Amino acid sequence: MSQTEINLDDIETARSRIAPYIVPLHITPSAALSQQFDSEILLAHEYLQTTGAFKLRGAMNSVLQLEAGTTGVTAVSTGNHGRALAWSARQAGVPCIICMSELVPQNKLEAIRALGAETRIVGKSQDEAEVEARRLVSEEGYTMIPPFEHPHVIAGQGTLGLEMLEQVPDLDTVLVQLSGGGLISGIALAIKSQKPAVRIIGISMERGCAMYASQQAGNPVEVEELPTLADSLGGGIGLDNRLTFGIVRDYVDKLVLLSEAEIADAIRHAYFKEQVILEGGGAVGIGALLAGKVTPGSKTLVLLSGKNIDMELHRKIINHEEYQH
Ligand SMILES: *Cc1c(COP(=O)(O)O)cnc(C)c1O
Repeated sequence: MSQTEINLDDIETARSRIAPYIVPLHITPSAALSQQFDSEILLAHEYLQTTGAFKLRGAMNSVLQLEAGTTGVTAVSTGNHGRALAWSARQAGVPCIICMSELVPQNKLEAIRALGAETRIVGKSQDEAEVEARRLVSEEGYTMIPPFEHPHVIAGQGTLGLEMLEQVPDLDTVLVQLSGGGLISGIALAIKSQKPAVRIIGISMERGCAMYASQQAGNPVEVEELPTLADSLGGGIGLDNRLTFGIVRDYVDKLVLLSEAEIADAIRHAYFKEQVILEGGGAVGIGALLAGKVTPGSKTLVLLSGKNIDMELHRKIINHEEYQH
């Protein structure tokens, strides 16, 4: 395995650093899946975090390690990373500006504001919002907190791996969602440095998974962004990716992609069989099992990473109605 800039110590230190702010991971057996696959299958309910997704682990770990003299933090994200950073900054008493384009839906804008962050609306694209965030960094002393490509973020997400192994010491297989790869990188480092035999499987969507295409190509590549039910798994990995591309290559055993219908099935299974509301990205581990794309191990843990779905979209999915992303 290759050297990385993050080790088990960093993840353990991150765990004590963020502990006062996070809900401990809640793991339950899935009776429905265990019966269906005649195998022990557990669900990790990480959508229970305050902002509805795991991302506050990495954001909090970053905000608590800012360099002295930093004015505040900034990011370009109206999704789960933006929410997590806004919340973490408020907890730590650090100013936070989330930059976004004019195209942001009103409900997402309000969600970020309700978490106490300042919002800066610039231009008509993510790129223009990014220019403003960079200006805040270069001219006003803000620190940009990226969604995945940073050692503090990866170590924060890795705390999930420590909790998984502690609660399920004889864990065999873990299903983890994959986008930029901060989540699976942290979990894989935490688990494999203690138990290298545990299988770590990354799950994403067929419609625009940049990490999958990059691993196939052998180096970071761009893919076309397409609308998908797993919207929190969209986006690139950065052509200058230095961390997550290599960690995924060296530590993740297998990558699996799901169709939109398989993601919808997973959302429906979570709702009707587990009584849980999940966003598409949060449900893909369940989808991989249901689609027969992953064979369960002797003890399989499925991470449920987030629940921030538009409830009207959710209603349409569970009723098998036509929907638009
Ligand atoms: C961001 C996100 C992911 C993917 O995390 P990466 O670190 O980008 O791979 C998975 N699930 C949810 C709900 C997310 O918000």
